[in-house]
Amino acid sequence: MKSVLITGANRGLGLELTRQYLERGDQVFAAARQPDTATELHALGQAHEGRLVLLPLDVTSADSLAAAYQQVAAATDHLDILINNAGILPGHPGSGIDDVSEAQKLGNLRYEDAMQVFGTNAVGPLLVTQQFMPLLRAGRKSRVVSLSSGLGSLELKASGSHYHYSASKAAMNMYMRTLAAEAGHYGIISIMVDPGWMRTDMGGTGAALPAADSARGIIRITDQLHAEENGSFMTWQGKPVAW
Ligand code: NDP
Repeated sequence: MKSVLITGANRGLGLELTRQYLERGDQVFAAARQPDTATELHALGQAHEGRLVLLPLDVTSADSLAAAYQQVAAATDHLDILINNAGILPGHPGSGIDDVSEAQKLGNLRYEDAMQVFGTNAVGPLLVTQQFMPLLRAGRKSRVVSLSSGLGSLELKASGSHYHYSASKAAMNMYMRTLAAEAGHYGIISIMVDPGWMRTDMGGTGAALPAADSARGIIRITDQLHAEENGSFMTWQGKPVAW
């Protein structure tokens, strides 16, 4: 049985990852900004008695991070897998940015939006991983999986939109690749994963890929990681993504 911590576990890909890790018998620490209202997580907790721990976590809050760490450390002496899944896209549910359709176009770009997106998508995963490092180091060959995006690839970038989002994912890639180099000394393998264009609140109804399929792929590649893959950027199917 592995112990897995997942951020943004209450909906979308995070919820699917939580469901699938529970179904195969692992222990999941499901972190959400508002766990009290996370009805699907509560139902999963009832179905998998004793193996799901719900905890409040806002990845942009140092106090929240410290409290979440205390809660997890009280329940386990190690973590095998950390999934940095929480993320926002300006103008989508949960982002808190009102200007839905035009928020990402030249002329409407705002400092506050950029900081919110960078705080959540780039700095968040770095500080979550830093916070949980003692428990990750206590695991055997622990893995850190951070959800990136093809939109964060400098080489693949072609569209003149998603300014803050694309830049935040590129920044996250650099943060987590740097962390991979340091944490690799402790035997921790860290990767960045593009989950594909998924049908979630963020991906929208036009996306073809069910989050469940992407989650299945991410779990499979995480299980099969080798030390040589530390610091790499790959798709949910394990194919390399250009930086
Ligand atoms: P969703 O919008 O469906 O879910 C996002 C999750 O992140 C929610 O649980 C949300 O919580 C949580 N979250 C947002 N901000 C914070 C925060 N400050 N602290 C803690 N949790 C937070 O997204 P997806 O499931 O579609 O995406 C998952 C990941 O995959 C993201 O990192 C995304 O950028 C990435 N990705 C998604 C793609 C897609 O097509 N959907 C494509 C490429 C990458 P709350 O409910 O409280 O808002």
